[in-house]
Amino acid sequence: MAAQILDGKVMSASLRAEIAERVQKLKEQGVTPGLAVILVGNDPASEIYVRNKGNGCAETGMYSRTIQMPAETTQEQLEDTIDELNSDPAIHGILVQLPLPKHLDENAALAKILPEKDVDGFHLINAGHMLTGTEGVVACTPRGALYMIKSTGLDLNGKEAVVIGRSNIVGKPMAMLLLRENCTVTICHSRTKNLAEHTRRADILVAAVGKAGFVTADMVKPGSVVIDVGINRVDGKVKGDVDYDAVKEIAGWITPVPGGVGKMTITMLLANTVEAAERTLAK
Ligand code: NAD
Repeated sequence: MAAQILDGKVMSASLRAEIAERVQKLKEQGVTPGLAVILVGNDPASEIYVRNKGNGCAETGMYSRTIQMPAETTQEQLEDTIDELNSDPAIHGILVQLPLPKHLDENAALAKILPEKDVDGFHLINAGHMLTGTEGVVACTPRGALYMIKSTGLDLNGKEAVVIGRSNIVGKPMAMLLLRENCTVTICHSRTKNLAEHTRRADILVAAVGKAGFVTADMVKPGSVVIDVGINRVDGKVKGDVDYDAVKEIAGWITPVPGGVGKMTITMLLANTVEAAERTLAK
């Protein structure tokens, strides 16, 4: 039987309606949640992501500001801009669109963002919260992916979860979230031997590799949940890391690309921003 589709568009629509209600409540109390996105240079993919983030803000009634900086921006100029946004009360969330041009220090820039305004969840403080399971901002892509996994209604306790990819922005935080849900988690990466032996055990398989069609049907356990984080451009089309047509015949649930995790990532960014604004009122 073909897999059930975990539709990021449908899930996002209902989540965004809830977020819009929370934005409205905040506005009634005099607070308009605001997101600032810093874009350095003119990478075409980054420009699309930034535009989608602005659209998401508009859709839910939030304020958004895009700060476009030239490719030759210095570290000092970038950090000064972050400092200004840190002290701007109209801005509750700050996001530095990655990747930055090579001459800039990404980690130093991220460390400049106030942890409570770090709506991407990449600051070391928030990464530490993720590791220790304490309250902090959860990175958007893993948060969205976990939401999709939970939407299956499966009991996650003791499930075998395999994450392919160990990046700081997807693979590692994804693994930590699944561990928090009491899954038995395996992290696979470019040096993993006999990858398919791991993936075939997975009740939940998350692919965050960056290679189109990398996960093939023979690597997937029948009936499992397959979450495709990959965004790969092939001949002008966006493709995931999973060989979707073949794997959907084996898996129990699967996310499409596009219309899957990518859509949820922006929705979770909106959720993180509205939560950051709510926290300012709770102070
Ligand atoms: P990355 O390049 O930082 O990490 C890729 C990971 O894949 C590495 O940890 C590497 O060890 C692993 N890998 C590479 N080759 C492998 C192999 N042969 N076998 C096993 N593991 C291998 O990438 P990233 O930033 O984590 O992103 C991964 C993918 O997810 C990309 O396609 C990216 O565009 C996409 N992405 C999507 C979203 C979204 O919103 N859907 C967000 C972030 C990233």
